[in-house]
Amino acid sequence: MIALDEMAAGVRNRTPAWVARAITLVESTRADHQSQAQQLLKELLPDTGRSHRIGISGVPGAGKSTFIDALGSDLTAAGHRVAVLAVDPSSVRSRGSILGDKTRMARLAADPNAYVRPSPTAGTLGGVAKATREAIVVVEAAGYDVVIVETVGVGQSEITVADMVDSFLLLALARTGDQLQGIKKGILEIADVITVNKADGPHTAEAKRAARELAGALHLIRDDTNWTTPVLTCSALEGTGVAEVWSQLTAHRESLDLAERRRRQQVGWMRSMAEEAVLSRFRNSPAVRAAATDAEQQILDGTLTPAQATSLLLDAYDKT
Ligand code: GDP
Repeated sequence: MIALDEMAAGVRNRTPAWVARAITLVESTRADHQSQAQQLLKELLPDTGRSHRIGISGVPGAGKSTFIDALGSDLTAAGHRVAVLAVDPSSVRSRGSILGDKTRMARLAADPNAYVRPSPTAGTLGGVAKATREAIVVVEAAGYDVVIVETVGVGQSEITVADMVDSFLLLALARTGDQLQGIKKGILEIADVITVNKADGPHTAEAKRAARELAGALHLIRDDTNWTTPVLTCSALEGTGVAEVWSQLTAHRESLDLAERRRRQQVGWMRSMAEEAVLSRFRNSPAVRAAATDAEQQILDGTLTPAQATSLLLDAYDKT
């Protein structure tokens, strides 16, 4: 049995070991841990909500960890406390991970005013997203005023992360030929700030050109808000342009009705958690499993269509 009072006090007192244990608790999928986690979060909730939550995405190799190391170190030097969390869809699928490598962000990992959490290595994307949203609560209660949620620019995870942060930063790379190649339109739509990284040495001009092209492309697709997504260039390696990215992220946050955005995010989370819960009940229902075994065989035998089989599974579920 975990002493929740002690854990909550440990988090509030900013003890890294308690922060780590609390996040491990919210990541756990065990039913008893889940109910303890909910109690802990309720306890911590009054101390949360005051950080700048920032999502950062980019393809593997874009320079995310180098960038976060540089930005995070500048921020702690300026008196901020920085927490870095990761949502890594590759770890969900394979238990291996693109982001989980311990050697990433060496400076921040050794910085007493920073907390770097490797990504959860199991669960569905929905489950990992829930754990990450709850980890945000924990690190905010521990007084981290900048929370960075990092994700790999593949799959659905950017949308998931954009839904849990205030500002979403896309780290892009200049490419020869078609500069937009590899950047999905969906990501451009959710990016609040874009920076083309690796604008250094002989690549500077190319990066600037890519930034101009991206700005042009954005002009065509984003017209919904009062915020115009700036497209910058930076070198995470040399540290140039990183301060400008931060000032644009700050400006973006100031342009928001933050309370309204977060309330709407909570409605969205409720929906996705409800869907995830129903799916899990459906999959784990013995009646559904039994019906599925029969139905799959009948489909293989050619005696049942997939649509008919689906109806049978739903009937079995509705009767539970
Ligand atoms: P991630 O996979 O997105 O986290 O990318 P990393 O931060 O691990 O960077 C991938 C590689 O690009 C590493 O070898 C970095 O040293 C290099 N890199 C990152 N940022 C820059 C940069 O601004 N300029 C240059 N020239 N190389 C960079």
